[in-house]
Amino acid sequence: MSSESEETKRLRARKYETLRADEAGSAGAEESGDEDEEEMEPKQKLLQILVSAGLLVAAVIVDKSVPGLAMWQRLLIYLIPYFAAGFDVLKEAGEGLAHHEALNEDFLMCVATVGALLIGFVPGGKPQFAEAVFVMLFFQVGELFEGIAEGNSTRAISQLLDIRPDTANVERGGAVQTVSPEKVSVGEVIVVRPGEKVPMDGTVIEGTTSLNTVALTGESAPRDVTVGDPILSGCVNLSGVVRVRVEKAFGESTASKILDLVQHASGAKSRSEKFITRFARVYTPVVVGAAVLLAFLPPLFCGHFTRDFAEWLLRALTFLIVSCPCALVVSVPLAYFGGIGAASKIGVLIKGSGFMDSLSRAETVVFDKTGTLTKGVFEVTTLHPEKITEHELLHLAAHVERYSSHPIALSLKQAFGNEDDGCTVTDVEEIAGRGIRAKVNGKTVCVGNTKMMDDAGAQWSQCSEPGTIIHVAIEGKYAGHIHITDVVKPDAAKAVADLKAEGVRRTVMLTGDRREVAGRVAGELGLDEYHAELLPADKVSDVEKLIAETGRDGQKGTLIFVGDGINDAPVLARADVGIAMGAMGSDAAIEAADVVLMDDKPSKIARALRIAKNTQRVALHNIVFAIGVKIVILILAAFGLAPMWLAVFGDTGVLILCVLNSMRTLRAKG
Ligand code: ADP
Ligand code: MG
Repeated sequence: MSSESEETKRLRARKYETLRADEAGSAGAEESGDEDEEEMEPKQKLLQILVSAGLLVAAVIVDKSVPGLAMWQRLLIYLIPYFAAGFDVLKEAGEGLAHHEALNEDFLMCVATVGALLIGFVPGGKPQFAEAVFVMLFFQVGELFEGIAEGNSTRAISQLLDIRPDTANVERGGAVQTVSPEKVSVGEVIVVRPGEKVPMDGTVIEGTTSLNTVALTGESAPRDVTVGDPILSGCVNLSGVVRVRVEKAFGESTASKILDLVQHASGAKSRSEKFITRFARVYTPVVVGAAVLLAFLPPLFCGHFTRDFAEWLLRALTFLIVSCPCALVVSVPLAYFGGIGAASKIGVLIKGSGFMDSLSRAETVVFDKTGTLTKGVFEVTTLHPEKITEHELLHLAAHVERYSSHPIALSLKQAFGNEDDGCTVTDVEEIAGRGIRAKVNGKTVCVGNTKMMDDAGAQWSQCSEPGTIIHVAIEGKYAGHIHITDVVKPDAAKAVADLKAEGVRRTVMLTGDRREVAGRVAGELGLDEYHAELLPADKVSDVEKLIAETGRDGQKGTLIFVGDGINDAPVLARADVGIAMGAMGSDAAIEAADVVLMDDKPSKIARALRIAKNTQRVALHNIVFAIGVKIVILILAAFGLAPMWLAVFGDTGVLILCVLNSMRTLRAKG
């Protein structure tokens, strides 16, 4: 087992290395513009914009109504609204310069507007005072918008993930105390009253109630729980008082885990995001360089320098206004953020926007069987003991499975009833994909499939019944088998059909179970292929083969693996996107996976795919639209057809439209 988790770690490290390598160097471009703690609130910004707009109107009135003002007097009049509108931009620009980041948007905006204020003093230059203030003002409108949009998305997502419980009511010394959930330890009993959030994962030991799990799973139908049922943190208790025995420390509980995941969802960046960071690094210097050339070359070579310089300088200043790729830098990550938010609303946690890319290009989807396509809740149908009684057979099996969390183990323990009856179980060894060996009351007992029996040297007998067979051997002697059956999840067939409808070309099931069982399930669900009787290592090599076969014919397809993480964490890590079952899956799976399905419903995968495609589309539209408009403005400006105000209007307009477009991704239902 331990070698398996080492393997998982290694594979996962490799996957992240490649993701990081792509990113190397591209990071930092935006991060380095260190977020100022003293960013203005949108309300303050709005006030600033309104006040400076009023001052601008006043300045225009004074300018127009007082005849014979000298140029410098007019400059002074316009400097009042200019400083009102742009004092913070000027300050940021100065700070940027001090940090040797001359090409930041604030600095460029300042150069453009100061240039416009002064161009009247250049021989032959027409004064552009009002334009300069207008440009600054409109730039601030863009900033305001950006602030509102980012605030909105952050709020929407944190509301959505409003699952962090603040307090827990713990029973101590006969009284109920309200404490912070961090202070409650495993094994203590907490009381959850109606209307309260379940603070920690545990098992109900008294009472019945229904739970609202919408924050975790996106399902609005309440879920009923009673004594013995597990209860997850982050659910809201709707009706009755329940007493819960805490099973996981706060930091390990579902709610904390999910919050952690989503907060660190920026881990792997999408290609579009990498593209715009790279684009921004090239675009701005190129446009600034072009502006410098535009200011000096044409007047030097094609005409009269002193007569034409002012005109070309003005065109160059217009270039500077469109030199900032803010519309993209803001709206593309916002689109992904919204997409991740939309997915978590339906109970699908995506750990990074890079996985959004991969999801949208899914070509092959590989499923694990037990616990993924089937419920993983086995029912014992018949017992076939050899030389022992039925009771002894089940007794041994249940005891050997004492410490296992495999779905088969849980089912056998359930079937036997009270397994904790004083028998000693020692030297437990779980052999992934085969079964378990342990000493029960000193005797070595093996429980598992035929491979396990072969290992133990036991002569197993064939069973003709359809379903999963669990063989038992005592001290290497065959002792019979237990026939168990599992049922497919109600939405599994729909999940497969929906994926096909979304353009997935190949659906495959991998399982360690018998070929007969695998064939029946695959047929029932309409899967293209199935590979049975696999060991965990076989699953990895099969997935590697499938990866090699994916994305041929010039397609950029990806392979998705869906599992419950029991015995398949290495595969989760190896696939382009590893999707794990969150509610039933193991913690290792949730860690190794890139996407977690909170309610274990495979049909959510197709919905996540649709959300990913929608997000991708929105990001692409923004990229094409913003770059297109900028190019048009640059061309018009070069020919003197775009006045400054039109440039800033166009630029801010694009920013606003792109941001509005991006915010649509948050509302996608999938
Ligand atoms: P799957 O690929 O269907 O998820 P696993 O790889 O977890 O299945 O297990 C494959 C097979 O190994 C099972 O069908 C069972 O025969 C055997 N096996 C694995 N774990 C156990 C266990 N704890 N007890 C008994 N049998 C087991
Ligand atoms: Mg499994």
